Amino acid sequence: MQNLMFMSSLRYQALQELNREEKKVSGYGGKKITAMFASNVFNGRTMREYLSDEAYKSLQSSIKSGSKIERRMADQVAAGMKAWAEERGVTHFTHWFQPLTGTTAEKHDSFFTIKSDGTAIELFDGDALIQQEPDASSFPNGGIRATFEARGYTAWDPSSPAFIMEAGSGKTLCIPTIFIAYNGESLDYKAPLLKSIAALDKAAVEVCNYFDKNVTKVTCTLGWEQEYFVVDETLANARPDLVMCGRTLIGHAPAKGQQLEDHYFGSIPERVYAFMQDFEQEAYKLGIPLRTRHNEVAPGQFECAPIFEECNIAVDHNSLLMDIMSKVAKRHKLKALMHEKPFAGVNGSGKHNNWSLATDTGVNLLSPGKTPRTNLMFLTFFVNAIKAVNDHADLLRAAIASANNDHRLGANEAPPAIISVYIGKYLTEVLNEVESRVKEKFSEQDEVILKLDIHKQIPELLMDNTDRNRTSPFAFTGNKFEFRAVGSSANCGSPMTVLNTIMTQSLKEFKRDVDALIEKGEKREIAIMHVLRDYISKSKNILFEGDNYSEAWAEEAKRRGLNNFKTTPEALNAYVSKAGKQVFFDNGIYTERELEARHEIMLEDYVKKVQIEARMIGYLSTNHVLPAAVEYQNVLIKNIQGLKDCGLGKESYKAQLNLVTKMSEHIQNINDNVEAMLEARKKANNTEDLHKRAEMYCHDVKSYFDKIRYHADKLELIVDDKTWPLPKYRELLFLR
Ligand code: ADP
Ligand code: MG
Repeated sequence: MQNLMFMSSLRYQALQELNREEKKVSGYGGKKITAMFASNVFNGRTMREYLSDEAYKSLQSSIKSGSKIERRMADQVAAGMKAWAEERGVTHFTHWFQPLTGTTAEKHDSFFTIKSDGTAIELFDGDALIQQEPDASSFPNGGIRATFEARGYTAWDPSSPAFIMEAGSGKTLCIPTIFIAYNGESLDYKAPLLKSIAALDKAAVEVCNYFDKNVTKVTCTLGWEQEYFVVDETLANARPDLVMCGRTLIGHAPAKGQQLEDHYFGSIPERVYAFMQDFEQEAYKLGIPLRTRHNEVAPGQFECAPIFEECNIAVDHNSLLMDIMSKVAKRHKLKALMHEKPFAGVNGSGKHNNWSLATDTGVNLLSPGKTPRTNLMFLTFFVNAIKAVNDHADLLRAAIASANNDHRLGANEAPPAIISVYIGKYLTEVLNEVESRVKEKFSEQDEVILKLDIHKQIPELLMDNTDRNRTSPFAFTGNKFEFRAVGSSANCGSPMTVLNTIMTQSLKEFKRDVDALIEKGEKREIAIMHVLRDYISKSKNILFEGDNYSEAWAEEAKRRGLNNFKTTPEALNAYVSKAGKQVFFDNGIYTERELEARHEIMLEDYVKKVQIEARMIGYLSTNHVLPAAVEYQNVLIKNIQGLKDCGLGKESYKAQLNLVTKMSEHIQNINDNVEAMLEARKKANNTEDLHKRAEMYCHDVKSYFDKIRYHADKLELIVDDKTWPLPKYRELLFLR
């Protein structure tokens, strides 16, 4: 009987299967990456080949200026795309978009259609390219569509190239699109992102023109670094919590965790290596320029990163890659976990967002210059970025808030929920110098910029950066800012939209302030220095060079008046605060209604996630942990009875009795806490006000998770290993 139970445990089946697993290395088969790169992308080169001169030029100019494409031209572009796609065996097309569910969405239509006279033809015209009306009433909309019409539209984003997605032997032409409601209000990540990119372009060009009249376009660049865990799929499937929530809700820490620090940059396990090579090749075909792969700090944790790209494309590519990774993992019977905190007690996963600004003259605006003039330009953008974060830290915090990310930001783990900026020792000195020099009356000879000599100190600057602060949520890393607090499963669109918006706001204020001084007769460079000095003084509060994980910093931040929002419901308030609404509205990113809808969607998402986890931890405890505990308890009881029957005294079964008693306590505790949690959930569910409901889930419901988990994990340590039904941490993290 015991043996039968043992045989039927999903965990043991999974472990047996793992032993049979044949470990294969994919390899590139001698192919060069350049040979496959972007082979499934309708990019500039392909366009040249498949479009008429006229259509090509019109498309290029609309990409550059963001202007609308004429209907006639759209027909031509569609015909070119179709010809290109059909040559590659494509039969269907889809508008590909990123709704606020956090995943990507697609609905396939075939080119095939039947004309009124009954002839069957393949058709893809400008209309189908430009706009679709997905039957998508079940995407999150925060009430926007309920009020008007249940219709939503997807609209072509020509600035992100179309691509062919392969799944098995099926091939689909994917058109990147925005997703909006009937009245034009945005329902996705891309629409606001595009607005923020355009706003930033305009504001940054105006400021650039102080230094260089030739600049006509500024693009923001994003290079993300994606962290993830890889576990054996069969083992993962034996964990209902991993299947349903993407993270483990119970599980005792393994004897060996990451304390030996032997995983980081270690050699990549063969099976994972094969998976990586496989998804890399899929990514290359789609034009995702992956560059780096390595083990991360935690066992079973890895990272990949591409060469940076224009922000909109980089965001699309990250969404695409997460999707591809999940699909390709299945081929290897692996599961790629994007969750921010799949395992308690081991490092979580983030997604560093490296962000900078580039001009159409080829200058990285956050790269220290080689001449005094370009230095001043660098300093201008550098200081404005710091000021933007200082003025709107709460928005940045809101942009990365999610139920998942709370496990990193609010907990004792990198990075903290307090937003601060790290710039390194050298640049701190530079800022201090600017601030002090101009204290006295600023005169013509005192052109501080000319004396800063940043360009001569670049080696020092770079050295400083090799020693950069890994604990900071927002760090300057030599030629870009690195926003490290973004969660691994997040859509980068959300933090990038906020960053671009607040930078736009800062640059606009800067222009206004400098122009005001120039109007008063101040020389341009001097006016700029004056304003920069002022901004440095005003933004110093956000600069922090020390250890962001320390308790001392939390205290100091409090003294400085910096916010420390540890939970999502609290952090999200910034989106609907007066200041938050204002900055989005002034820069044309969101209307007030859009913000309120978005806020509602995010709160709802939070509630749903915690609700699902609460159900799951209840189910796991009652249906998995308790039966296993009771079963083992019975074995012990039988043993005690047997020993008694042999006429042995208390001494002979002391240990067994002790275990039986302990187990009873844990069982009782689990039972009581699960019941209390159920009550708390009922109360929360009956609360009409969404914000209050979210708060209740956050503080009342969720507080039972740790209590339940504590006792479940204690039972895991006691219960006979072969009776324990759930794959253990050591198996999930170390076996593959
Ligand atoms: P690490 O931070 O891991 O030491 P790097 O500093 O070399 O590595 O680069 C990290 C990431 O920064 C890479 O993904 C790269 O694409 C990105 N990056 C580099 N330059 C820029 C830039 N100008 N704009 C945006 N991202 C950039
Ligand atoms: Mg990095």
